[in-house]
Amino acid sequence: MKVTIIVLLCSLIWGNSLAYSQSIYRNRKVIILDAGHGGIDSGTVSEDGLLEKDVVLDIALSMMAWNKGLLDSKYDIYLTRNKDTLISLENRTKLVKHLKPDVFISLHCNHINETNIHGAEIYTYDSNELSLLYAKAILNKLNQDLNFKTRKPKEGNFQVLRETKEHCPAILLELGYLSNSNESDYLNDSQNRKALALSILMSI
Ligand SMILES: [Zn+2]
Repeated sequence: MKVTIIVLLCSLIWGNSLAYSQSIYRNRKVIILDAGHGGIDSGTVSEDGLLEKDVVLDIALSMMAWNKGLLDSKYDIYLTRNKDTLISLENRTKLVKHLKPDVFISLHCNHINETNIHGAEIYTYDSNELSLLYAKAILNKLNQDLNFKTRKPKEGNFQVLRETKEHCPAILLELGYLSNSNESDYLNDSQNRKALALSILMSI
């Protein structure tokens, strides 16, 4: 008989950190990937027309493909969108509330009116320990594998983080700046996007 036990692992291990109700009998780690934007919302745009919504969707789909092809479906991965459609922020978080994944990763690209600024960044809502562990692991791996410039995780009051924080570790990953020509050129190459996808997946 399958018995589901709700555990408060996080509070036991990390004292005052948030506790998440997850089944310890789940066979596979559940990951929800949220490719930001979509449809009429392109997100940020590089000077030569590369759209954030396309970059992040391709990376999310590549992570699915790596998981299946290389890792023999080690993880149970769900996407908030798998094509070029705009999903409301509310519906993105509904999936999280329902599945209570082991981690929720919202994928984005950055943009700023200063073309020299570059690098990957990760936001967490309130720096809870588990979210920070994922954030640091991903940033370290991106730096080691791909020599990506990375910054320390920051706190960000984003709706997808605010509304998911009670249900799972949640991070918002900014995969470089489309306003920086080196990073937008890098992200414009599908092989590079596959490498990014693999690096993120292996860091989990
Ligand atoms: Zn974005």
